[in-house]
Amino acid sequence: KTAFDAALIVRWMTVSAAAVDREAGRLTELDAAIGDADHGSNMQRGFTAVVKALETEPPATPGAVLITAGRQLISTVGGASGPLYGTLLRRSGKGLGEAPQVTAEELRAGLQAGVEAVARLGGAAPGDKTMLDALAPGVEALAVSFDAAAEAAERGALATVPMLARKGRASYLGERSIGHQDPGATSSALLFAALAEVAK
Ligand code: ADP
Ligand code: MG
Ligand code: MG
Repeated sequence: KTAFDAALIVRWMTVSAAAVDREAGRLTELDAAIGDADHGSNMQRGFTAVVKALETEPPATPGAVLITAGRQLISTVGGASGPLYGTLLRRSGKGLGEAPQVTAEELRAGLQAGVEAVARLGGAAPGDKTMLDALAPGVEALAVSFDAAAEAAERGALATVPMLARKGRASYLGERSIGHQDPGATSSALLFAALAEVAK
């Protein structure tokens, strides 16, 4: 049974940052269609700051790693996604407490609390064509396995294509938001894929 220590959570953040770098062009392209064409650069700026902060002062516990990461996202990302992802990681980190290692089940429960905090902050629910459409099914499938979570988040992101956006900039487009994949749901799927990779 895998125990997650601070180093493993740091690796999750590092692998996420690499995925964001690799996919930044695509995230920005998706945001160009239904937003303001900055989601890739927002995420890159945020995760570059996260990796730098974690390298400079590596936190001792999984909870502290996520709290540090969340704080960086909130302070460096100007867009809607910064406070939302920042809240996700910070709230998840708080849920992990001060334990030096956590189990997969504890990590799942922490992330579940983080996803609930994102829903409260943004006032969105699954079906509104936001990051929650990947985060909610992803965190739910974490009860099965990390691979199942990555697959569920990816499916959730793809399922945003026919949705009408009800939150965020894409909602200004009304019906014209239909037929495009949500950028935030797409980046959320990247985070779950990175988690599945480091959990192996
Ligand atoms: P901005 O829209 O400020 O330019 P980004 O482009 O970085 O910010 O992020 C846009 C993404 O943020 C959207 O694709 C969507 O997934 C997510 N988002 C926007 N508003 C909300 C909200 N109220 N709740 C949940 N997610 C949201
Ligand atoms: Mg944008
Ligand atoms: Mg913007």
